[in-house]
Amino acid sequence: MRILITYPVAEDVLLGILNDNVIYRPDLQTKGDRFVTKALTELRPDVLIAQKLPDEQVVKSWVLATPDSARFIVQKGNSQYAGEAKHFSFAGVPVFTTVPDDRIHPDIQPLILAERVHTKRSHVLGGGKKSVASANQKVSVALVGAGIVNLITAYYLTKAGYSIAMYDASPDPRKSEHWSKYGCTRGGGDARMFTLTEADNYNDKDFTAISHFNNLFDSKVSESGWMICDKNNISIPEKTWIHEYEAVPPYLANVYNNDILSFNHESHPLWEDLIENASELFQDVELREGIVRLYSDESHYRESIERHREIKSLRCTLTPEELIEKYPALADACASGLVVGAIEVVGFTLNVHKFIENLLDSLERLGIQCFWNQSVKKIIRDDHGVVIGLVSGNHTITADNYVISPGVYGSELLRGTQAENKIQGVLGCWMVVPNLAPKLKHSLKIARKDHITEDANVTVATDSEGEDILIFGSGYGYTGLDPNNILPDDLEAMYCGIEDSLKHYFPAAYEAAKQNGLLKASRRYCVRPWTSTSLGVFEVVEVARDGKLIVTGGHNTGGFTQSPAIANAVLAALQGEFHSMHQLYHPNRFTSFYYEIPHRHILETIAVG
Ligand SMILES: Cc1cc2nc3c(=O)[nH]c(=O)nc-3n(C[C@H](O)[C@H](O)[C@H](O)COP(=O)(O)OP(=O)(O)OC[C@H]3O[C@@H](n4cnc5c(N)ncnc54)[C@H](O)[C@@H]3O)c2cc1C
Repeated sequence: MRILITYPVAEDVLLGILNDNVIYRPDLQTKGDRFVTKALTELRPDVLIAQKLPDEQVVKSWVLATPDSARFIVQKGNSQYAGEAKHFSFAGVPVFTTVPDDRIHPDIQPLILAERVHTKRSHVLGGGKKSVASANQKVSVALVGAGIVNLITAYYLTKAGYSIAMYDASPDPRKSEHWSKYGCTRGGGDARMFTLTEADNYNDKDFTAISHFNNLFDSKVSESGWMICDKNNISIPEKTWIHEYEAVPPYLANVYNNDILSFNHESHPLWEDLIENASELFQDVELREGIVRLYSDESHYRESIERHREIKSLRCTLTPEELIEKYPALADACASGLVVGAIEVVGFTLNVHKFIENLLDSLERLGIQCFWNQSVKKIIRDDHGVVIGLVSGNHTITADNYVISPGVYGSELLRGTQAENKIQGVLGCWMVVPNLAPKLKHSLKIARKDHITEDANVTVATDSEGEDILIFGSGYGYTGLDPNNILPDDLEAMYCGIEDSLKHYFPAAYEAAKQNGLLKASRRYCVRPWTSTSLGVFEVVEVARDGKLIVTGGHNTGGFTQSPAIANAVLAALQGEFHSMHQLYHPNRFTSFYYEIPHRHILETIAVG
């Protein structure tokens, strides 16, 4: 969309908001109506952001000049409106007024409001009808993908009375075939963590302490970048994804971050409810309550304390001395000089493989049907483009509704949807060491600044023989659309990075694992589904007879954490109800706001030209 700003913006903020679709004309604030009319009718913005409303006649001229635009005005508020957002119509154009907020620079607030208004107005779920089945029959839903996201969705839908059939290209996770045959959840290490900051927006340099956030894709993993695929051989959709990732400005990254957090917050009581009321799912999963976060950098530590306090995640702060007293297992980590401080935060960890086994057993008892080794190739549509089924092998799958959550393996299947090419891969690695005495009792998150494994999870768990182990998961390697597009040297660099961290934080366990071969034998990786904005994807496509096809995915480092909120959003969509994820995770949220014309089209034109 095209945005015209007519108030003077502070110099330190200006660089962060200027873009191809932003026209900055502070001179118009003091010029007469004739000039404003000329700008509105010739530049034809979709949004006017102004401090003062123009004359009514000026706005009417703008309306006449932009007959196809869903134009609106954002008025930069003043203290007169403190505490209450104003929304009214002026010369037939909706006007939204910002509410002063001490936490956000007043010159950025109007843009944030414009983005929110645009997102709410342009991504409204069509239909809004409840999916109904014929008399005496349950409404059927075919789910494609049996990773953590769709498994939790299946659980919620089954409990809500839907009849579920589930298809996955991988073998049954309970059969424990080689890890490389599975998706991210089952293929990765046997550990996942819930924290309120999981899936932090990685475009947002303020919060992640990744100082080189805007050129991560210029360098290989072995050179401290994120490229694990061959950067000289990437496709146009991959270049587009990287371009969008780098284009997200800090103010939008901040907004997106808060939206991701809202779904983590929504998921928290839902997880607590499952733990309390669905105890069969948590049998033998080594559920550990509470997370300890360690920091190697003083300023990152201080920022993190504030942030966790603000989002109500902070339980206590610990100096290295207090840490050693409370957690003797961390004495070596502190001695290495890599811990300037620690915090205890809200969260839990579990053995995710056992958890999904329990979940599948429970789902089958509730009557769902699972079809393993069934790759679904295509969405079939009728001549009017309405979805009528899915193709798997040589047969057609039909149901009242469909939910596709393919992780990073959906490029072919999602063709023709708005989610096409939006979900790409970012690889992470896993290794295991024994949990030696004095044993670690709480799982950790380690922030090791400027290291190849700068964010790492260490989960306290047990292996299949019941031995106490620590599972270390970390690293970011962009694979693009093909999760197998991995350069061996860069993968090796990531494993070596993990070994280096293990050596510093748990030297005795590292030596033991090196000696008995566990270190090498436990190496594995999995590829996280990731979007260029770090927001997840939620797309709804109308299906014949008021049914829906829903695409979910792309939750980067938080697929496990957010899965109950995603399930809620799917359930709401099927029941014709609103859930904020329908808009906030819309696959075109960023591009429709930040570019004047579909951005992919521009890049593809340049490439062809
Ligand atoms: C090192 C590391 C640590 C992590 N730690 C955490 C954590 O602590 N907390 C957290 O919340 N998240 C964490 N994550 C992220 C989390 O693991 C992922 O977000 C999550 O597993 C993704 O689940 P999914 O269901 O979206 O995808 P997947 O688990 O990949 O499942 C998708 C499934 O769809 C199937 N599929 C795909 N296409 C088709 C098709 N066409 N036909 C049939 N089947 C198909 C695949 O076979 C696969 O089984 C971590 C990731 C990594 C790499």
